[in-house]
Amino acid sequence: MPSTYDKDIQSYNFEELTSLIESLGEKKFRAKQIYEWIHVKLVSSFDEMTNLSASFREKLKEDYILSLPEIVRFQESKEDGTRKYLFKLRDGNMVETVFMRYHHGNSVCISSQVGCAMGCKFCASTLDGLERSLTPSEMLGQIYQVIKHTGERVSNVVVMGMGEPLTNYDNLVRFIELFTDEHGQNISQRNLTVSTCGIVPNIIKLADLKLQITLAISLHATTNDKRKEIMPVANTYSLDKLMDACKYYFDTTGRRITFEYALIGGVNDTAEDAAALARLAGPLSAHINLIPVNPVVERGFTAPDISATMAFKNKLEKKRINVTIRREMGRDIDGACGQLRRRHIGG
Ligand code: SAH
Repeated sequence: MPSTYDKDIQSYNFEELTSLIESLGEKKFRAKQIYEWIHVKLVSSFDEMTNLSASFREKLKEDYILSLPEIVRFQESKEDGTRKYLFKLRDGNMVETVFMRYHHGNSVCISSQVGCAMGCKFCASTLDGLERSLTPSEMLGQIYQVIKHTGERVSNVVVMGMGEPLTNYDNLVRFIELFTDEHGQNISQRNLTVSTCGIVPNIIKLADLKLQITLAISLHATTNDKRKEIMPVANTYSLDKLMDACKYYFDTTGRRITFEYALIGGVNDTAEDAAALARLAGPLSAHINLIPVNPVVERGFTAPDISATMAFKNKLEKKRINVTIRREMGRDIDGACGQLRRRHIGG
């Protein structure tokens, strides 16, 4: 079976790689070796695959591509050790990736697209629209390069950087398959979170795969009208439809959903908002992650102060909702999504 990923050998799954290697007249165990070079030893060239013959390496080099994204810039927070990377892809496009240290292990936040088409009013990633989607190998490459650069293990990955992963569905699913494959990094699906603004048909498709990943929904508003004001995707998929899809996801996979809620002063932070949010989350046993909005100057949104944020949280807790306030990481190094890239390309 030929792979749909053509020359991009890092996006081949184990089965596809095996049939490729056999079709080239090589023994099956070579596939295991190559898969290990790519996904465990994290090489960025065929030349590093020293247990293959020189002629076989040459043959692979002629027909396939293998590289990791290039680090163009990296910043490290003095406050918490968070690292933010700006990567250049093979075609010159740039994406951002963030490395965060938590008590329970290291976490990497990756981008799924160059830019974004969703147009959320509070988000810097979408200001210049969508350039293109990332391939599975470009999503993996961000993590692999961070592992190599830090020399540390990565235990959690969140697909919460630039882009809308559920509009890059096939590549996302292949990425999950490769990253969790026992022949590669062998990370548990439970350590992977995918965040979406609410692409309803693909939430349902994803549910049917019955993966054990965590699905995070960027909710940010509790009525459809208010959601439409800040998230254009609500014009296509209503809040009701989104909630139905969330219920389907929870019922089908047994995995609790996370609602992300960026608190924006004067926009979605009233007592009624808290009550409505509790009504949405309660029946789903959903976890709520409150994010004091990262101010984006272009939009003029600011976060409520700390006491208003705590009051909002307390209102949810009184309704027995499981809620956390997202710790701000790397505040001193262009925290919010898409900011580093914008600064670099002069947006
Ligand atoms: N497109 C996906 C994933 C990328 S955005 C999604 O919408 O979920 C990752 C998270 O960061 C989303 O919850 C998004 O709404 C949030 N976000 C974007 N800009 C932000 C800002 N300025 N402040 C706080 N959160 C922001």
